[in-house]
Amino acid sequence: MSKVEHIHCLIIGSGPAGYTAAIYAARADLKPVLYTGLTPGGQLTETTEVDNFPGYPKGITGPILMEDLKAQAERFGTQVRFGLVTKADLKSTPKRVWVDETIEITADTIIISTGASAKWLGLPNETRLRMNAGGVSACAVCDGFFFKGQEVAIVGAGDTAAEEATYLAKLCKKVFMIVRRGEMRASKAMQNRVLNTPNIEILWDSETEDILGKDAVEGVVVKNHKTGESKTLTVTGFFVAIGHKPNTDIFKGQLDMDDMGYIQVVPGSSKTKIEGVFAVGDCFDKTYRQAVTAAGSGCMGALDAERWLATQPVH
Ligand code: NDP
Repeated sequence: MSKVEHIHCLIIGSGPAGYTAAIYAARADLKPVLYTGLTPGGQLTETTEVDNFPGYPKGITGPILMEDLKAQAERFGTQVRFGLVTKADLKSTPKRVWVDETIEITADTIIISTGASAKWLGLPNETRLRMNAGGVSACAVCDGFFFKGQEVAIVGAGDTAAEEATYLAKLCKKVFMIVRRGEMRASKAMQNRVLNTPNIEILWDSETEDILGKDAVEGVVVKNHKTGESKTLTVTGFFVAIGHKPNTDIFKGQLDMDDMGYIQVVPGSSKTKIEGVFAVGDCFDKTYRQAVTAAGSGCMGALDAERWLATQPVH
């Protein structure tokens, strides 16, 4: 049987929260090891310009910001490893986790920064075409390029949908924005950007009934639930931007969570109900969900972990 590796401070997840926790933990000599998950750098690697992260007066792209945070964490000795934590036993001492179903690790303290993942509508053709790379995507920045000069549709009305619709409008001939209510949730600035983009057409009070196409998207059936009218949009790409779900399933039953799966922490801290286990970033924060608030909570997680370890007999 292979030897089980012991880690003093394990950080799960590689978004702004995880890397910031790593910077602080490494500088406090906690010898952190960070497992990236399947999307190293997290959600920001799927975005374009980030204009609201302090310290970048001219803005920065999401992928470069994440590379910078990783380099900063490594500079102080964080070991960054590619791998997905698939199981956890947080109640044992030391805590135990399994990476990629096989590698077993024990840890004195764990900082959970697993973030959140895109939500889907749940339509059968959405899943089928998404799985077959048939033109259904939750990331305009990743996939918009494939629809250059074409007509596409996007669902959602938050900041993500507004940002992605304007991004797509630069590449595509036309963008249909399917909004389920008579107003948008996005900030006023983002809404104005959408409304002032001539090749975005908003379909208010509308829901997606079906996505057409065998191997690739050929159209979308949209129903206006106020008038009861259905119509088919002839599009080749279908983008979904309807929010996110926290990546916390592996901790279910061990940590307190709300009904959406966000981990509950002691207010004003990163402490979960299990001693030595801390939650930071989008896996617990459903209110702010910004890169900078995630980074701030990552700092809190490392400081809380450091203080907790100092109270333990072996560290
Ligand atoms: P949000 O939860 O803010 O918005 C989700 C949107 O999708 C809402 O308009 C919602 O409609 C709609 N929606 C949800 N479910 C469905 C469904 N089944 N069918 C149709 N529409 C649906 O998520 P975002 O990803 O947009 O944003 C998350 C957070 O990240 C926010 O706090 C946002 O401000 C932030 N953000 C900031 C950015 C920036 O500052 N540059 C960029 C992107 C995000 P309804 O309104 O009716 O509920």
